[in-house]
Amino acid sequence: MTADYIKSVITTVADYPKPGIQFRDVTSLMQDSKAFGTCIDMLAEHYRHHQFDKIAGTEARGFIFGAPLAKALGCGFIPIRKFNKLPRPVLRQSYQLEYGEDVLEIHKDAVHSGEKILLLDDLLATGGTMLATIALVRQLGGLVEHAAFVVNLPDLGGADKLTEQGITCHALCEFE
Ligand code: 5GP
Repeated sequence: MTADYIKSVITTVADYPKPGIQFRDVTSLMQDSKAFGTCIDMLAEHYRHHQFDKIAGTEARGFIFGAPLAKALGCGFIPIRKFNKLPRPVLRQSYQLEYGEDVLEIHKDAVHSGEKILLLDDLLATGGTMLATIALVRQLGGLVEHAAFVVNLPDLGGADKLTEQGITCHALCEFE
């Protein structure tokens, strides 16, 4: 089982969520037990020699890939959530969408100063979501140098923006 197989079971949905967008739907990958398990195994293998304290996964698909990876790497898991979903005191970061703005939040006690945090989301497009996640973790004193994705869309430039922030990106597959 290879990255090519993982790519082959990601469905492309035309004109979702609006005309002109080619949505890369990873739920078809999650439904495939071999592909899903292989994703986690490949990510775990890639980071085997790193020592992370925690993985921060971004709502919602970052939870699905992030939690089993945290188990595989023997570290904790931090949910980065949308507005008003976390019950205890939070830090909040707004970020630009194509139209308008959105907000991500993290529990203030989720990261201790100096902890090494691996960031994880299903897909990297413009990088706005991951830049907001980085800002939250860094404000709490977390050390962030790596971000992992199942899919990268290189034409949208997210990886370049993360590189400018000192982040090394790793994605299992790319769609042009
Ligand atoms: P960015 O902030 O990098 O522009 O967009 C990435 C975020 O939007 C991720 O949280 C990702 O889940 C979601 N996203 C944007 N486009 C797609 C897509 O085509 N497929 C999937 N699965 N998620 C997307």
